[in-house]
Amino acid sequence: MNIKNDRFRNFLIQQNQSWKLSADNYRELDLVEEKTFLIGGFQIKVQFNPERMRSSSARIDNTSIEARKCFLCSGNRPAEQNSLDLGNEFLLLVNPFPIFRTHLTLPSVSHIPQRLFPALEALFDITRQMQDYLVFYNGPECGASAPDHLHFQSGESGFLPVESEFHSLKKTAGSLLHQSEPLNIWAFDHYLRKMISLETDSIQLGINTIKTFLDNFRKIQPERTEPMVNLLCTYSKGKWVVHLFPRKLHRPTQFFEHGTEQLLISPASVDFGGVFITPRREDFDKITASDIVDIFNQVSLDDENFEILKRSIAN
Ligand SMILES: [Zn+2]
Repeated sequence: MNIKNDRFRNFLIQQNQSWKLSADNYRELDLVEEKTFLIGGFQIKVQFNPERMRSSSARIDNTSIEARKCFLCSGNRPAEQNSLDLGNEFLLLVNPFPIFRTHLTLPSVSHIPQRLFPALEALFDITRQMQDYLVFYNGPECGASAPDHLHFQSGESGFLPVESEFHSLKKTAGSLLHQSEPLNIWAFDHYLRKMISLETDSIQLGINTIKTFLDNFRKIQPERTEPMVNLLCTYSKGKWVVHLFPRKLHRPTQFFEHGTEQLLISPASVDFGGVFITPRREDFDKITASDIVDIFNQVSLDDENFEILKRSIAN
């Protein structure tokens, strides 16, 4: 994969000249092991990445969150960690525990809770600033390791299989929920996981569609602080593409098993994009295609509720 030396990549290179922890982890990423499954014609990569242990096994219950210092607040960040101001009340930092060759964290300047709707305008603006990158969001109950501090993450475009698969999927495998010149919306039932995708050249139509999605999803999951969703967004040739992955569960049963039955996998946006992260060698070695199918089935929204969600968006 070609990595362009744009201002974000240059920021990372500069950062790694003065921050040993980060530099070491990016160097190790070059040696990281990956393998690829082809399941039903779809690609799932598995990455063995021991540095992601703290994220995969993060305790995100209220008591644990309240007991720790927020690592995204400026007063608590490591002295070596620099930031770029993106405008829109968001900063850009180098993520020192990378999955992507350029892995960035984009926290809000203020310590406010992880919620998608109030951050949508910023999301569209940030993604437009970051062509050649994808920007992603993990909900407070499905993957965000700082559910108390609003943030996105970003990595270079082209790494997650969903980006290329979407081009053929939308022609063959999706149901079209809405079609017009400025906005198309598709739903995908049989893409191993459930996915709703939209393509638009209008920030306002994009925001309205995601708001409709959240409003209707909230009726299905009223008990949640926010309906469980992971989101990926890219911007290219004047258009945004947004993939929404509605969930019903944070961690699969395998996560809580013991001994050889355990698989320490805590799926979030990157996994839903088609790259499973295994922080432990034994999980990387033993994971099978049927584990992946089973994990997606457990954590994705069920058929019945997905049907309800699709209908409400189409209307
Ligand atoms: Zn904070």
